[in-house]
Amino acid sequence: MGKVALHNKRGRQLFIVFILAMLTLLLTSIVALANENKVTVLASTLNVRYGPGLSHEILTQVQEDAQLNVLGEENEWYKVRLHNDQVGWVASWLIENDEVSTDTQVRVRVTSPEANVRQFASTDSEVIGTVFAGEEYQLLYRENDWTQILYQNRVAWIHSNLLEVTTTPTTQAVVTPNSDTVDSIRVGINPTNIRRAPSTDSDIVTTISEVTEFAVVDELDDWYQIELPDGQFGFVASWVTESVSNEVEANLPPVDTGNQQHYAVNLAEATIVIDAGHGGHDPGAVSSTGVVEKEVALNTAMILANKLRNAGSNVIMTRNDDTYISLNDRVYHAHQAQADAFISIHYDSVEVANTMSGTTTYYYSESEKDLAEAVNHYLTQFGPLNNNGVRFGDYAVLRINGQPSILLELGYMNNDHDLTMINTTHYQQTIADAIYQALSAYFSP
Ligand SMILES: [Zn+2]
Repeated sequence: MGKVALHNKRGRQLFIVFILAMLTLLLTSIVALANENKVTVLASTLNVRYGPGLSHEILTQVQEDAQLNVLGEENEWYKVRLHNDQVGWVASWLIENDEVSTDTQVRVRVTSPEANVRQFASTDSEVIGTVFAGEEYQLLYRENDWTQILYQNRVAWIHSNLLEVTTTPTTQAVVTPNSDTVDSIRVGINPTNIRRAPSTDSDIVTTISEVTEFAVVDELDDWYQIELPDGQFGFVASWVTESVSNEVEANLPPVDTGNQQHYAVNLAEATIVIDAGHGGHDPGAVSSTGVVEKEVALNTAMILANKLRNAGSNVIMTRNDDTYISLNDRVYHAHQAQADAFISIHYDSVEVANTMSGTTTYYYSESEKDLAEAVNHYLTQFGPLNNNGVRFGDYAVLRINGQPSILLELGYMNNDHDLTMINTTHYQQTIADAIYQALSAYFSP
């Protein structure tokens, strides 16, 4: 009996060792799979952008031979994770891509009813969100008891005990929980078009001119679907509404149902938000000689702000120093102040050095074209560099901005000729003066 018992115990131990070995193998292969899509940068400097295309703003830059993890692919652009866990997009033709297969995504499913999403792999780390049972996320990496996932377009960690790996991706759409889910919205702060489909090109069903609350039926991209009093359904652009429910409300200015449409008729009564691009850990474009966009943008912004203040304008700067400010926070300043104009100051960069030159003015909504054209006119007239005209630009600081907003690219950091100009106080003063003159003309009766 004794012998048999001993034998069984030994057998169980062996069995447990075997199971542990198999588990280790499984986890190792998962990690290997998650790391399989590493690619190498071929260009000497590669722009990492906020979205898949040249029209998207530059998030940061990486140097030749840098290793990136590919998370996805769209229109010849790769969504990548950088070594510092930022997520952005790069042109696929500028990276070595023989081995890339974006189909081998490994996903995890949340098994716990609710799980904290953290910034780092530790329970001491900041909670940046909550996920719920059944939701699926892309697995990026596993170490010790922690799993790194792609969460709301950023890299985050969840304790591995709260997840299971789903090696075969389900056909069900990925749940991308939005912590800012809105139940009900206010429409009609300014006359607001309700459209048949979620696009500014779609037919107008009706226009709402009085502030009215609607329950949100559905959310599609940046649009809310609502039911009108006559039973019809329509879509309203989220950026012209205010949320009534949840914490988002605290971030919005109080609703004044009185005279909302105040258009300043001179600089002295205008509230102008000056937004110096990038800052802090986000340098923006960097020249081959080490000049950083965040610095020249801030210098230019400060010169412009001083000129406007001297003219009596109420000037709000989204940053006064080398601090990182999120795109949402930048726009928040414009909304809170009900700014008459939001001017975002940037310097440009292109995939191949010295192939582009000059200044460009971007707008998002048709209604902002006047402001864009006014400013661009003066940039053309007084700016020492070539001008590339007024263009539509899908920049978040414009897209989510309910106030009149434009974004200026004031020369190319990776054009040798532009750079010799850009990096001088003389150029920055000349450009700031051109913008100042433009605003002065724009805010005149
Ligand atoms: Zn920029």
